Amino acid sequence: MVVTRFAPSPTGYLHIGGLRTALFNWLWARHNNGKFILRIEDTDLARNSEEATKAILEAFDWVGLDYDGEVAYQSKRFDIYKRYIQKLLDEGKAYYCYMTKEELDKLREEQMQRGERPRYDRRYRDFTGTLPEGVQPVVRIKAPLEGDIIFEDGIKGTITIKSEELDDFIIARSDGTPTYNFVVAIDDALMGVTDVIRGDDHLYNTPKQIIVYEALGLKIPKFYHVPMILNEQGKKLSKRDGAMDVMEYKRMGYLPEALLNFLVRLGWSHGDQEIFSLEEMIELFDPKDINKSASAYNLSKLQWLNAHYIKNTPNEKLVTLLEDFGIFLADHDKKEILLDALKERAKTLQELADMAKEILEEPEEYDAKGMKKALRGEWREILELFVQKLEQKDVHLPVDFHTIIEEVVKEKEIGFGKIGQPLRLALLGKMAGPDLADVMAIIGKDQTIKRVKKLLE
Ligand code: GLU
Repeated sequence: MVVTRFAPSPTGYLHIGGLRTALFNWLWARHNNGKFILRIEDTDLARNSEEATKAILEAFDWVGLDYDGEVAYQSKRFDIYKRYIQKLLDEGKAYYCYMTKEELDKLREEQMQRGERPRYDRRYRDFTGTLPEGVQPVVRIKAPLEGDIIFEDGIKGTITIKSEELDDFIIARSDGTPTYNFVVAIDDALMGVTDVIRGDDHLYNTPKQIIVYEALGLKIPKFYHVPMILNEQGKKLSKRDGAMDVMEYKRMGYLPEALLNFLVRLGWSHGDQEIFSLEEMIELFDPKDINKSASAYNLSKLQWLNAHYIKNTPNEKLVTLLEDFGIFLADHDKKEILLDALKERAKTLQELADMAKEILEEPEEYDAKGMKKALRGEWREILELFVQKLEQKDVHLPVDFHTIIEEVVKEKEIGFGKIGQPLRLALLGKMAGPDLADVMAIIGKDQTIKRVKKLLE
């Protein structure tokens, strides 16, 4: 069975790079009818926050990624890690190192002065002398002294690291807490993880983890190291570029299905297909198709996808979604016309809400450029005639509004723009927007007359 996992350290919000990693792992598990584990890597007690864990779970909930079993917390597994540390100590595969931070700094400085690579010199590896007093030791693993560490990465190909480039790294800090490269290997092995898909910033942690697997005789999973997401200039993605909290995308009015579709395409492709339902993603995703080069974040692509998903969201659901944006349509009798008219045009729910507001609320001010353009010539008489006709009729349907506009156009012998422009300004306060007949149908006859009269005042 394929078992994957997403293993965030709760030091901040879940950002889109993290969500993409989670999605890839989730898809691969679901594709194989396997298992997807969510593991919170909270061993670094000083840097973790419960708030960050909550934010991660909230983001998972919003995008609809589910996980199998309970969330695993490394902070609750210290006993397990301690046992494995003891096992390595007992077997002589790890040892206590009493070097203080000051000594280590001094050593590194000397090495650098000699033009050598700074690193721990393994002085306590086979130490037989008298141990210094008053030093809380760390535990280091005995890394191989020679040979290569080789592994096959599903994306990067064969990775070879010379053992001499690695030192005996720390597996337990002086306060006894275990380190990332140690616990990650133990947990992946104990949880039966078969495939590790993660950011390629971890590529050079993998040889260290392999040392741990081998020292403990644990099974090594398959690794896929995914290239980073870059900004449109090819630089590391910053907050300003979009590397923000996933929930920020919710607040900006993106739909989770659009965000997931966007993320799956950041680094993975299937021909030139752009739109993938979740079912299609599950069916088609394979980590071996992940691109070898970094992918670039492209906001207009996300907006395009979001527009697509908004357009295809049933109105009933949009009514609920819009409530977060201050638009309450549940009891509005023209909500179908309103949403049908607007959902084709909105890139985000926020835009949809803004457009709805423009229709539902009387304009407070009028677009200055539009005023100049629209209010030329006989606009006043035209609108007066329009109001007159409207007042005489009992109209409700959009089609009646069309008829009235046509009548005015005929009688006055004008083009549609001559009435359309001032009317648009009167109803919406601006020159762009949906079909005017739709707008009038939504706000109704009285409100239409009221808004036109307001402009005529
Ligand atoms: N806790 C690590 C991180 O958040 C996980 C790395 C991994 O997937 O092994 O970067």
